[in-house]
Amino acid sequence: MSQSILALNAGSSSVKFALYDLGSSDGQLLVSRGTLDLGDAPRLTARAADGTVQCDRQFTADAPHGAGIAEILRLVKGELGGRKLICIGHRIVHGGNKFSKPVRLTPATIEALERLTALAPLHQPRSLAPVRAIAALQPDLPQVGCFDTAFHHTIDPLVRRFALPQKYEREGLRRYGFHGLSYEYIAGRLSEISPALAAKRTIVAHLGNGASLCAVREGKSVDTTMGFSALDGLVMGTRCGAIDPGVLLYFLLERGMAADELQTMLYERSGLLGVSGISGDMRMLEASSDPRAREAIELFAFRAAREAAALANTMGGFECLVFTAGIGERSSSIRKSMCEKLTWLGVALDELANDARAEIVSRPDSKVEVRVIATDEESVIARHSRAVMQVGSAT
Ligand code: ADP
Repeated sequence: MSQSILALNAGSSSVKFALYDLGSSDGQLLVSRGTLDLGDAPRLTARAADGTVQCDRQFTADAPHGAGIAEILRLVKGELGGRKLICIGHRIVHGGNKFSKPVRLTPATIEALERLTALAPLHQPRSLAPVRAIAALQPDLPQVGCFDTAFHHTIDPLVRRFALPQKYEREGLRRYGFHGLSYEYIAGRLSEISPALAAKRTIVAHLGNGASLCAVREGKSVDTTMGFSALDGLVMGTRCGAIDPGVLLYFLLERGMAADELQTMLYERSGLLGVSGISGDMRMLEASSDPRAREAIELFAFRAAREAAALANTMGGFECLVFTAGIGERSSSIRKSMCEKLTWLGVALDELANDARAEIVSRPDSKVEVRVIATDEESVIARHSRAVMQVGSAT
């Protein structure tokens, strides 16, 4: 009987999942891929690897997360055919200092991860909710956690450091970085495409609802724009990105804003949504003729280019720029706007290739090769999960 692994990627408004067959010696074959949207009207969609629709239905549930996970498991069981599901791998947002590699999710590791909730108060509970739901539904099914922070463990201590008293650094108040599974996938793709490309100093722009940049040298993270929390760095769908800490003090001390109100504003009411007053969704803003939508888009591109220049500085230059995730893969105008702002660093965009979303969107004479690569965090989760199941530790 062939074996399979289910990869779950729980985000703020959806759970993406992908089922893999572990047929060949070290390969993995996609069987099906789907999304559970957790909006007002929860919806489950899935397609087989050949694009055939396997499921597209709405369901009502009091607790959409738990009920949704049960729906995914039912769907996956139907698609298993003769395969045996050997484990479920998860994207876990925060691994703190302790978890630099994927691990089996035992009661002890889950408890240790729960203790990190203070470092990612909104994201960590979302990561752990499906783990707990599955443990309750199928206690004997092994689960593996893969961490968004792990890829950034190679960052130099100086780059991680805040200029705060040492005591706080020792307590873990430092830059961690996120979106690591996506960056790991892109670094892997670059080395598959060519060793020469993988050797280039690269800035990867993961531009989705959450957005960050990563400086990658020789396949390793050397700097990134998200820091202690997933708020830092770029302007995001609803998050503010880097902000003068004096602004936060002003809200707390001068305006008497409650801490939880401030948290909600910074995570859920700022970014593209806050600036435009219309939406945090880039596609909607690009379709709007409202000047506030334009301002939000321009701020997004300005800040992303500014942060890219800072990462280039960490590496002493860069020769490759990769765009990925929803906005990075699909918005030619954001790519254009960012690239124009990086002309002085040697980026020369080929507008026709960019509009056509070609693999390489820079001109042949560009000092920086600009690529668009679709990210695939689920395949990284599946690969790590398999390694953990086989040898008890990660690749
Ligand atoms: P996440 O996984 O972080 O939830 P995604 O990577 O799916 O997010 O990216 C979502 C973002 O991508 C949204 O802002 C969405 O509007 C944007 N997006 C998706 N398709 C397009 C498109 N064709 N043009 C511009 N933006 C797009």
